[in-house]
Amino acid sequence: MSPIHLAIVGVGKIARDQHLPSIAKNPDFQLVAAASRHGSVDGIDNFTSIDEMLEKVPGIEAVSLCMPPQHRYDAAYKALNAGKHVFMEKPPGATLSEVEDLQALADRKGLSLFASWHSRYAPAVEATKAFLASTTIRSMKVIWKEDVRHWHPNQEWIWQAGGLGVFDPGINALSIVTHILPKPVFITRATLEFPENRDAPIAADITFTDADGLDLSAEFDWRQTGKQSWDIVADTEAGQMVLSEGGAKLSIDGVLKHEEPEQEYPMLYKRFAEIVKAGKSDVDLAPLRHVADAFMLGRRKFVDAFHD
Ligand code: NAP
Repeated sequence: MSPIHLAIVGVGKIARDQHLPSIAKNPDFQLVAAASRHGSVDGIDNFTSIDEMLEKVPGIEAVSLCMPPQHRYDAAYKALNAGKHVFMEKPPGATLSEVEDLQALADRKGLSLFASWHSRYAPAVEATKAFLASTTIRSMKVIWKEDVRHWHPNQEWIWQAGGLGVFDPGINALSIVTHILPKPVFITRATLEFPENRDAPIAADITFTDADGLDLSAEFDWRQTGKQSWDIVADTEAGQMVLSEGGAKLSIDGVLKHEEPEQEYPMLYKRFAEIVKAGKSDVDLAPLRHVADAFMLGRRKFVDAFHD
């Protein structure tokens, strides 16, 4: 079967770090064009807008959208409307309703829409899901603390409304939690800390439960210097489970059970090819819904101004 002719939109950090190398290694795709106001990709047709790209390269079959979430709907709408399958970076949009609107459009057009959650493809996530399904969980704690100055230097969009602030990494943790837990959870309490000069939170402290009264909490913080923490710890009847390093390693009672090389973005493109070939979409809004709930239910606390 001939490769899917793919275009990329928003040639920035994640496009360069992950999308371009993963596409280059996947024989199911051939990158044919890019649209970016400032960035470009060597060896293919480059445009400064998605409109011009879609008009001038009619052979494009699928589009990967790598811009910030506040601008995803507009690009996704144009691509779907032009008959292209769409891969969306996480988070899939700035609101739940706009993503539902895109899903309805993809369904009407018979196209595949992929709301990607890269952390779900971290190496130890499936082994953790299987372990949790085999035991009873007493409590779970998510600790996702990183240094925003290191990971997001001068990224203005991330601090603007719709940029999600600390939920930009936090939603990765939520994408894992909603995948590995056997039952759906919901937020009962949240406190969001907003720098007094920003429209998005720098920290969040959240409590969840489920129908059986599960004790689940999450701490997200962007002010962590030194060692970074991307850990999910659970007290279970079969021992203490630690899923660490963003989903890379699983330990039970201190014994390492699962560790493999990281392959998140190659796995995302494998999945995208699968759903395009199967004529399906893959859109799970659970992680974004929890973020929306945290904004809806959470107490606001104003903290010191943040300057890059
Ligand atoms: P970025 O480098 O700041 O932005 C990506 C590109 O989007 C920019 O280079 C820019 O290209 C385009 N863009 C920026 N503002 C825009 C606007 N107002 N309108 C239209 N296009 C705009 O961000 P990133 O780190 O790659 O993140 C992009 C997405 O990937 C986010 O949703 C993020 O959560 C996700 N992601 C990032 C990482 C990471 O490690 N950085 C990891 C996983 C997922 P032009 O100026 O050339 O148009």
